[in-house]
Amino acid sequence: MAAQTVLTTPRATSDARCFIMTSGRWFHRALLAFAGCAAVVVWMVTTAVAPRVAAQAPADDSFNDSHFHLTNYIQQGITPRQFLQIMGTRVQRSTLFGIPLQQQWSYSNSGDYAPQYYLNSDAPLYYYSFTDAYVASVFKSLSPAEQARFDPMITGFNPADMYGVDHIRRVLQLFPGVFTGIGEFTIHKEFVSAKISGETASLTNPALDRIFDFASESGLVVIIHNDIDMPFAKENAEPVYLTQMKALLKRHPKATIIWAHMGLGRIVHPVRASAEAAERPPTQLEIVEGMLADPGLAHVNFDISWDEVAKYAVATPQTIAGVAAFLNRHADRILFGTDTVAPASADAYYAVFDIWKPIWRLLTPEASRKVRTGTYERIFNEGRRRVREWERANVK
Ligand SMILES: [Zn+2]
Repeated sequence: MAAQTVLTTPRATSDARCFIMTSGRWFHRALLAFAGCAAVVVWMVTTAVAPRVAAQAPADDSFNDSHFHLTNYIQQGITPRQFLQIMGTRVQRSTLFGIPLQQQWSYSNSGDYAPQYYLNSDAPLYYYSFTDAYVASVFKSLSPAEQARFDPMITGFNPADMYGVDHIRRVLQLFPGVFTGIGEFTIHKEFVSAKISGETASLTNPALDRIFDFASESGLVVIIHNDIDMPFAKENAEPVYLTQMKALLKRHPKATIIWAHMGLGRIVHPVRASAEAAERPPTQLEIVEGMLADPGLAHVNFDISWDEVAKYAVATPQTIAGVAAFLNRHADRILFGTDTVAPASADAYYAVFDIWKPIWRLLTPEASRKVRTGTYERIFNEGRRRVREWERANVK
């Protein structure tokens, strides 16, 4: 779940240096092409709008959006048709989800001031399950060609509730043919988790295991937001949620999972490690790289969405080189996403992609294509296929 606005000016922070630190060790790799489905969609769109462009390869600034919020924390936003206008021919496909948490407007807290964002009020957030019916209904109002460009996601469940999984199953049964996955949903998130009414979500809660079990069975792609660490974490310390997160992921090897924002947040910075320490602990990218190399985590992917994440990546020439090298090595498992929330304009929407420009420039053509489109197609095409298969067998 992203910032209220998307126009953040990247600025150098000392946090960002740790993102990299050992950048000299990282480099190279590549592969994958345009999957048939999306190619057909692109063809349909480009022939309808601009036939001359149809035969060209996608421009280097085209992408699929693995992380997009249609509505905000008070369930307001833009329509999919307005989003299609913004997508134009530059964005072929996108995920589609609201935000499952509603900010309460508490008169006793803010009086006549109507909060629109979780930082605007001390009043709690609560799960707003109607978001799934809303997303399904606006999706179903689209033409088949328009629908083919979206992967709607179920988000309106409480991951601390043993009944949460039943909501997900019910949504598939009520709206077959619509959803590709679940999420973005949140377990630990700075400022947010503590504000949610009811029991605090936990990575060790069996209610969450039931949800992952069902994702494994149905093929629903999982996008999970879980901060890797607490805010203001100390240097040279194991990130507080890393062990629990790895254990959760390893308990569900048959689920296809995307760890949103590589575990980072607005102030949950890349894991720090001081260069002088004799036994230097791994940095953020080394942790992620270790996970990517772990055969027990071959089902786990990472998104680099959110302008708050981009700010760490482009903070210094060293971070830019290190992150680019990392992406060149691991593009098969990394997805770009904007994490914009109901963007008011194309400028606001594309600003997030453009923050990454210094890094896009350093990627091999194949790595760039995978991060922008190929990894998305691999994961979401398979998700669609498996969920439709589950629906055929289970929705009467
Ligand atoms: Zn998030």
